[in-house]
Amino acid sequence: MTATTLTALSEQLERGELSSVEATRDYLGRIEAHNAALNAIITVTAEQALADAAAADARRAAGEAGPLTGIPLLHKDIFCTNGVRTSCGSRMLDNFLPPYDATVVARLKAAGAVMLGKTNLDEFAMGSSNETSYYGPARNPWDLRRVPGGSSGGSAAAVAAGFAPAATGTDTGGSIRQPAAFCGITGLKPTYGRVSRLGMVAFASSLDQGGPMAATAEDCAMLLQVMAGFDPADSTSAEYEVDDYSGGLAADLSGLKIGLPGEYFGEGLDAGIETALRAALAEYKALGAELVEISLPRTHLAVPAYYVIAPAEASTNLSRFDGVRYGYRCDAPEDLLDLYTRTREEGFGDEVKRRILVGTYALSAGYYDAYYRKAQQIRRLIQQDFLDAFDSVDVIMGPITPHPAWVLGEKTDDPVAMYLEDIYTLGVNLAGLPGMSIPAGFADGLPVGLQLIGPHFSEARLLNIAHRFQLATDWHTRRPTL
Ligand code: GLN
Repeated sequence: MTATTLTALSEQLERGELSSVEATRDYLGRIEAHNAALNAIITVTAEQALADAAAADARRAAGEAGPLTGIPLLHKDIFCTNGVRTSCGSRMLDNFLPPYDATVVARLKAAGAVMLGKTNLDEFAMGSSNETSYYGPARNPWDLRRVPGGSSGGSAAAVAAGFAPAATGTDTGGSIRQPAAFCGITGLKPTYGRVSRLGMVAFASSLDQGGPMAATAEDCAMLLQVMAGFDPADSTSAEYEVDDYSGGLAADLSGLKIGLPGEYFGEGLDAGIETALRAALAEYKALGAELVEISLPRTHLAVPAYYVIAPAEASTNLSRFDGVRYGYRCDAPEDLLDLYTRTREEGFGDEVKRRILVGTYALSAGYYDAYYRKAQQIRRLIQQDFLDAFDSVDVIMGPITPHPAWVLGEKTDDPVAMYLEDIYTLGVNLAGLPGMSIPAGFADGLPVGLQLIGPHFSEARLLNIAHRFQLATDWHTRRPTL
């Protein structure tokens, strides 16, 4: 029987109790049996996976194995994979076969990981529910009527359902943390610049960051160790030493100062979520931490600032999809303008078009100062709120979302209602900080995530804080029955 965590699977492989081919077959079997119901995976690369697993087993037999050798993984379908369709959940890239691997993919491959396939996502990662995907929504394995969260909803649903021990995700405004919370798994959004963005199709370049999604903090540490690090081919990659993420996991938490922002526990927070989080915080107290009331006074400005900046950057990034170089092209264009307009009209879905319109407007000559510049100023103030808070606390904790996973379709007619669900996650991206979601209980039978936010480049500390909680609780071991 294949283990349920990446760490345990790695140990099984190491001890020779299981081969990578056996583990890969096992996961492919679960995908085969349950993906029709969950729609978590867009492309399954079974044949290549089995060949790579066999090669991994051979390397292990030759004594050349590392901790990730032969570990099956899924990649969010926004990471370029050489010769394997990278759709971004869009009709626009339905036929796109990248000629290279994203740095994240290449690093995990070099460490011996075996790709099982590509996971479903909101179109170009724009969304909080996975409902904007051209391939249809992924579903929450805890309740198939509900959304798995987004935009990395496919990755979260897949890990929760046992399709793979781990998956990659990307987080522009919460897309690793929020689906991790909705599906009851652990997700880490690293500091901006910690993980290379090369080959990660750009949504909002100053906010996008890739990271691991897995059952536990221990598993995320193993993956981040490989994913993190300077990439000379990404000009926003940080030339900053990579910590030993697994080495410090067990460090004691006594004296840890946890900041609780009043703004994150106020009006609008679901009572069931608050109850679960208060219990989790009591657990931290029992582990020796001190709870400190703090304030992040500009929290209410995160949604308006983000929903100007992210669409503005998206409108620029998505201008490359014009039917000329790659991706979808409309039939029989009459002239160049017709090629551009019909390709984009037919290739993009409604939410992407909405963002392009909003972003183009915010960047236009007449409105740039009023919207884009103003949003950037607010962004700086939001960052300052966090930096001030970290003068007196080591970590900030709070909810990931105001409500647990909602029913499919419930918010699709009201984009603003959907955007408001991002209130607790956007600030982290605007400030470039690392953030995590860890399973912290249930509300109405649905998983609740606890958010951990740390200073820039404090991933090792966050993983330690998460790991100690997971040693003391068993929320991260709960799995939905399929
Ligand atoms: N929900 C946010 C949005 O729709 C964040 C998405 C993301 O992090 N990719 O933009």
